[in-house]
Formats: sequence, structure tokens, C-alpha cells
Amino acid sequence: MKFGTKAIHAGVHPDPTTGAIMTPIYQTSTYVQRSPGDHKGYEYSRTHNPTRTQLQDALAALENGKHGLCFASGMAAIDCIIKLLEPGDEVVATNDLYGGSYRIFTKVFAKYGIKFTFVPMHDAEAVRAAMTERTKLVWAETPTNPLLHVVDIRAIAEVAHAGGALLVVDNTFATPYLQTPLDLGADVVMHSLTKYMGGHSDVVMGALIVQDDELHQRLAFIQNACGGTPGPQDCFLVLRGLKTLHIRMQRHSENGRAVAEYLRQHPRVDKVYWPGFESHPNHQVARQQMRDFGGMMSFVLKGDKVEDAVAVLEKFQLFSLAESLGGVESLSGHPATMTHASIPAEERRKAGLSDSLIRLSVGIEDAEDLIEDLAQALG
Ligand SMILES: *Cc1c(COP(=O)(O)O)cnc(C)c1O
Repeated sequence: MKFGTKAIHAGVHPDPTTGAIMTPIYQTSTYVQRSPGDHKGYEYSRTHNPTRTQLQDALAALENGKHGLCFASGMAAIDCIIKLLEPGDEVVATNDLYGGSYRIFTKVFAKYGIKFTFVPMHDAEAVRAAMTERTKLVWAETPTNPLLHVVDIRAIAEVAHAGGALLVVDNTFATPYLQTPLDLGADVVMHSLTKYMGGHSDVVMGALIVQDDELHQRLAFIQNACGGTPGPQDCFLVLRGLKTLHIRMQRHSENGRAVAEYLRQHPRVDKVYWPGFESHPNHQVARQQMRDFGGMMSFVLKGDKVEDAVAVLEKFQLFSLAESLGGVESLSGHPATMTHASIPAEERRKAGLSDSLIRLSVGIEDAEDLIEDLAQALG
């Protein structure tokens, strides 16, 4: 089945009692048993809920995986993966990382004796060099946030597996429409469903998708034991969002190209980070592993002054200044003070993240209007 058909049909079934074509919101905490232990597969909604089951199955189908697991947020999904580890274990992660991932690694899990090393992951050799016999996980994001580096998933999977570690790919920026990391050797795909997958800025949720039955069992055990699971209403909203994922991603990518090309030729703009440019250092890898290049990008103004960036951000009319990304509406952000403020200034500089960098999540409005807004803000 092709992607668009799967986005609409995979994993979901008409409701067995009424035939409702849309998955009902099973707003219930418990399920009546006929006799002790004699139930219909549902006992308690932290463990299983029918709305969640259909979403988990839909996600697994879209990522070409076997099992999906949903969480109350992307962070709860990350929390679940790291709880596979034990004190003394090590993780090698990309140094151009979502700020919240950096925070949970260094501020929550480091104190339980798990060691995190951050490397520029678009360089597979840097990953190999950072691995030790205690390395259990390699943590990649691609494209990265906010510098849009592209990591060669196949190359990193080989390095991880050669060292006996699992590869986790945070696929939030790309979505399975643009790339399917499990097909390239990743062991776990992680999502903040809050972003493109939900797609309408109306829900906070996360997910994990895996192929391996035993790994799924271990993660499902932690999911139920720790309890960071979502409610059925939120699952319904993401199920609805998924049905237009392919159409939205096509438009995000088209608008992304129009906006990136406009910015690149603007006299006030010094540098645009977008993997669709042939001049992007990882463009060849992006072309091989991605279907298109998406609507995430960042740019730096000439002079690299924070005040100039702030002035542009204040002038935007359509690019609302807000945390988050991946919704139908265009958003702008200032990573140094917003999404990446939890990363120390020195680490940010080491990763090449300028304090005047502006990040855009290009929405699915008409490109002409978006460009007009950029023109007036850069004025
Ligand atoms: C937002 C985000 C997360 C965290 O997800 P929440 O749903 O906000 O908890 C993780 N990774 C990336 C790349 C994100 O953009």
C-alpha cells in the first residue's frame, strides 16, 4: 500500500459495535469482565485503550514497524527508552539536539549514573570514536534541531550495531512521509506527535515504534509500569491528524522550498540552513534517505546581532513567535532563548548554534503571503 492510502486506512477499523467509520473516543478507565480474567483484551486504560490501540497500529504501519506505543508527550516517550538502561550504561547522542532531550539526559538521567556523550552525528566516525563497551544506545535526530544537519541513518546504524548498541532516531522533524528510519536500520523510532503527526497544534503526545517483539515487550512493560500514557481524546486528535499527513507534508515541503529560496537571495540574510539546497553539506544523504526536504529551516542575519534577530521576530505577522513546530500555521522561534535555552551557552556555541539564529516552521498557508511577511519583517 502507498503512503497516502496507509495514512487514511492503516491500523484503523470500523467500530465493531456500531460500524462508526471514525475510531470512537473510548473515554473509560476500566472494562467489565464476565468472570475474573475473562475479558476482551482490555482491563484498565493505563495499560490498553481501544482508541490508543488503533493509533498505535496506524503509527506502526506508517513507520513500516510492527509495534507502536503512545505516550502523554514526546518527553514521556524518551523517558521510557532511557529506562531500558542501567547505572554505568552510556549513550552517544547528537550534539545538535532538541533542548528537552538534552535536559532530560543531563539533568534527570545523568544523576542515576547513565553517561551521555554528545558528538556531531553527521560525522559517523565521531560516533564510532565516542562509543565504548558500555554504550547501549546511540541517539540521533535528523534533520537536527535547529541547524538542520542530516545524519546518515544507515551509516550510524552500522556503527551502533558494530558496537552492540541500539539506534534510536527521533523522527519528529521528518515524519514517516519524508523518511522511515526502521527501513534504514534504526531499532526505535521516537516521535513528538505534538508536531507534524498531530499537525494542528492542538495536542501534546509522543510515540515509539519498533520492529522487534522482545524490545516492544520491554518498552510496553515500562510504559505501563511508569504510566506516562495519553488519554483517548488526544489519541483521537492524532488519528484525525494522520489522515492528512501526506498532503500536509507535500505542502510544507513546497512552501519550505519557496521560503528558503527567498531567504537565500535576501541581501540581509547571511546563511540559510535547509537540507534541500545542493550546497547543504549533507544534501546527498538527504536526497538518498528523504522523499522531500520539509518546511523546517533556520537562518542568520548578516552581522549576527541578537537585537536584529529580535527585531525581525517582533515584526512577523504570519510567522507567529511561539515554541513548537509542525502545525498547519507558520511559526518562528529564537532557539537561544526559547527551545534551546536549557543548553548552556558554551555547548550551543560548540555546536555552531549562533545566538542570533532564527528558526522557522513553514506552515501550509499560501507561499506568496508567507514571502510577503518575510519581506516586511526583514524590511
Ligand atoms: C517537541 C520535541 C520533542 C519533545 O516532545 P513533546 O511532545 O514536546 O514532549 C522531542 N524531540 C523533538 C525533535 C521535538 O521537536
